[in-house]
Amino acid sequence: MLSAVLVEPRRIEVIERTLPDLGPTDVRVRVDACGVCASDVDFWQGTTQRSMPEPLGHEPAGVVIDVGRDVATIKPGDRVACWVEGGGFSEEFIADEQHCIQVAPDCRHPEIAEPLGCIVNAVELAAPQIADDIVIIGAGFMGNLLQLISALRGPRTVTVADQRPAALARAKSLGATSVIDTSHESLAEQIARSTVRGADVVYEVTGVQAGLDLAESATRMSGKLCIVGYHQGASRQIQLGTWNWMAFTIVNAHFRDRNVILSGMQKGLRLLENGVIDVTPLMTDTFPLTGIDAAFEAAASKPKDFVKAIIRPN
Ligand SMILES: [Zn+2]
Repeated sequence: MLSAVLVEPRRIEVIERTLPDLGPTDVRVRVDACGVCASDVDFWQGTTQRSMPEPLGHEPAGVVIDVGRDVATIKPGDRVACWVEGGGFSEEFIADEQHCIQVAPDCRHPEIAEPLGCIVNAVELAAPQIADDIVIIGAGFMGNLLQLISALRGPRTVTVADQRPAALARAKSLGATSVIDTSHESLAEQIARSTVRGADVVYEVTGVQAGLDLAESATRMSGKLCIVGYHQGASRQIQLGTWNWMAFTIVNAHFRDRNVILSGMQKGLRLLENGVIDVTPLMTDTFPLTGIDAAFEAAASKPKDFVKAIIRPN
């Protein structure tokens, strides 16, 4: 079975690997699709250190082909989305039964379960109220998902900030009340005009310093500043005096607890299966396993109209 392995920064090899025999609670899955995550791109670029060789890919979905003797809830032929630490960019992988969530036969794009679960959890943690003014800084894949989930909580306005015209146009088409190109427009001025007191909940989804600065400028006194971005690499600086004086509630929406992630994935899949959200406009770029280099190049450089790279190994 073929599997993509990161052997050194910017070098992925597709190699023949043999999976171990199934343990009693193991499930063997044939991969339909696995998303390329911004955190994978960090490893690939060498921003985040990890031991290598490293099988990448933690957003897989596929069809069960075999189960261990104690597996009771899943059988061969079932479709599943799974929580795994890596190995999703492979023809097959093994996951524990507890980490597999069954997916309806007609559900489209179950491979987004993990990032969608993180966004569901972020919104639940930030807990926006009905008629809140919301700001989303960053209109990439995660920012777009955040828009779709935020809309379910009945906001008064949703303002989306980015510097890429195509991303802002997409945010508008996904229902943003207004979009701000922060390369030449002031988010703070726009928010002062549209909300008077500032935004109730601001989601920072960029993972860079500039996103944190913008978030500070848009959040109202006693508002919530929710950090969704993945802040790897160099340290960041915040004006703690200002954050303190403004009495922000700071919400860290980076989830590591497996059960929290699985619960978010389950909720996200329920929305997806029932058509409550439509993610098809976000599923822009698909690659075979042999095209994984191009997928990572695209995810890193984000060409115009790129939103999400998906690998389809089979
Ligand atoms: Zn991810």
